[in-house]
Amino acid sequence: MIKIVKSCKDCPFCCTGGTPEAPQWGCNVSTPALRLVDPEAERPRWCILRNEQYIVREFA
Ligand code: SF4
Repeated sequence: MIKIVKSCKDCPFCCTGGTPEAPQWGCNVSTPALRLVDPEAERPRWCILRNEQYIVREFA
């Protein structure tokens, strides 16, 4: 399966944190880890998916 990601809210690497009153969204594949992202905005310039691809595989 190939997933096209155009914003963080569509990205499987976008994760939530913070509190219910002040939710925060972070990138699970950023360096440093969990850089904050805005799921309503365009992908940040540092998004690793701009230049690379991630392959997620199951190793049995
Ligand atoms: S910055 Fe890129 S890799 Fe990280 S959550 Fe957003 S779209 Fe996904």
